[in-house]
Amino acid sequence: MYLPIVGYGDPILRKQAQPITPDYPDLKQLIDDMFETMYTADGVGLAAPQIDRSIQLVVIGFRPYDEKTDTYGDEEERHVLINPEILEELGDKQYFNEGCLSLPDIHEDVLRPESIRLHWFDENFNEHNEVIDGMFARVAQHEIDHLNGKVFTDRLSPLRKTMVKRKLSEVAAGKIHPKYKMKRTLKK
Ligand code: ZN
Repeated sequence: MYLPIVGYGDPILRKQAQPITPDYPDLKQLIDDMFETMYTADGVGLAAPQIDRSIQLVVIGFRPYDEKTDTYGDEEERHVLINPEILEELGDKQYFNEGCLSLPDIHEDVLRPESIRLHWFDENFNEHNEVIDGMFARVAQHEIDHLNGKVFTDRLSPLRKTMVKRKLSEVAAGKIHPKYKMKRTLKK
């Protein structure tokens, strides 16, 4: 089932999300719904606060890019992150152009470490403690920001922040209409 996506301006995107336990109600179904929502909206990652649940759950799915051949693999890489925690930032910081389903129409280069040591539980509550890099590390960091009440435009320089300010207020006012369905907060 598709779950409407919460847009910038909704207070849930500014809240600290809560950790969950294996007995969280209908967790399997929620994960399936989040993947379906992400694919429908053409995203590569989705955090639970973006579908109006303030819990530490993230889904990620993308086709890996091969620099040598400049092609995308057929096999999709999928990850479920439950209660993720960045233990260490590794490697150099790099710019990468990011967008966000909650901030439609905004794309900006964001500086983040290329590699991180991440601790998380997967959908079967198996524990992971791994060094990750590439697209997985990039998307994971973007989504973990959502669990901590941050969005990617918070990480822009003061100048770039000023440049996107108007766009952000348009999103918050419900004036931007992407192809996918968003949750509209009724304004007085
Ligand atoms: Zn996002």
